[in-house]
Amino acid sequence: MTAIAFLGLGQMGSLMAANLLDAGHAVTVWNRSTEKTEALRSRGASVASSPAEAAADAEAVLTMLTDAAALDDVVFGQAGVAETIRPGAALIDLSTVGPGAIRSVASRLPEGVDVLDAPVRGSVDKAKAATLGILVGGSDEAFDRWGPILGSLGTPTHVGDLGAGQAAKVVNNVAVITSIALVGEALGLAERLGIDRTRALGLLEETYVGDVVRYVRARLEPGDFAPRFSADLAWKDLRLALEGDAGGRELRTVAAAESWYGDVEALGLGDLDFTVVAAVALGERPATDGTTDDAKAP
Ligand code: NAP
Repeated sequence: MTAIAFLGLGQMGSLMAANLLDAGHAVTVWNRSTEKTEALRSRGASVASSPAEAAADAEAVLTMLTDAAALDDVVFGQAGVAETIRPGAALIDLSTVGPGAIRSVASRLPEGVDVLDAPVRGSVDKAKAATLGILVGGSDEAFDRWGPILGSLGTPTHVGDLGAGQAAKVVNNVAVITSIALVGEALGLAERLGIDRTRALGLLEETYVGDVVRYVRARLEPGDFAPRFSADLAWKDLRLALEGDAGGRELRTVAAAESWYGDVEALGLGDLDFTVVAAVALGERPATDGTTDDAKAP
């Protein structure tokens, strides 16, 4: 049993913290919006009133937050983790923040704190089932020491030094997130060329992007864009590839996809599932509650 502080109880974090409790760890949770702590309290978690309070007695501090700015706030803001985390303890970040952000956090923490980046592959279904893929960056010693905790969330794989997990995750997400926008464009083209959508989906399913097409179809046809992975988070991941330490590469297709996700956000649809980008690329304007209305773009 390990004393764990878990900070960030969003779509993913709330499920992951529950799995750590189920695995028998002593878990203290904190979330900016305090109401999200209640379900975990009733499952046996302690609830802290600040990141600093949560980290004070923790052997491992796990964070699952929106982005690099949120991670910085929680670690270095007022009553942040950095005020109380002990030498010998670990900070393990599970969010997708890019390699530069986690290296920057590590460089500002007190000497003797282990830092690991451990972004996850898989969405809420895998988070719930504790079958996430976890791409871990950090020293061999830190991975050996802290990897078993991550085993309660899925399958950790040590991919290299600090930041290597983030690098792998950004590459992973660029391909996945861009491909959803591409399917939307292909379906839009089909419409323009007079090919019925059902037929176009069937055609595309027979190609080697068939898995992506089936994934989009499962949301597009029922018009169900209830968020598992929000479009705003996907947009953030494309910007991680286009900016920061990945900047300077020619990522023309990624830049094009990024502009579609920017449109999604501008239409007020950024909280919906990222597959909504396919609908927007098709000229549809789903309602903000995730259901599709019949209104089409002009
Ligand atoms: P989410 O549901 O939007 O939750 C985000 C969490 O970050 C919430 O707990 C939120 O607190 C907190 N937060 C945001 N800004 C903050 C700030 N300034 N200070 C303190 N807390 C802050 O996101 P998610 O879907 O769980 O994703 C979390 C991370 O995992 C993201 O980096 C995402 O890219 C990555 N990821 C997501 C998925 C997925 O399928 N959803 C899959 C793999 C990886 P409030 O509750 O107060 O807003």
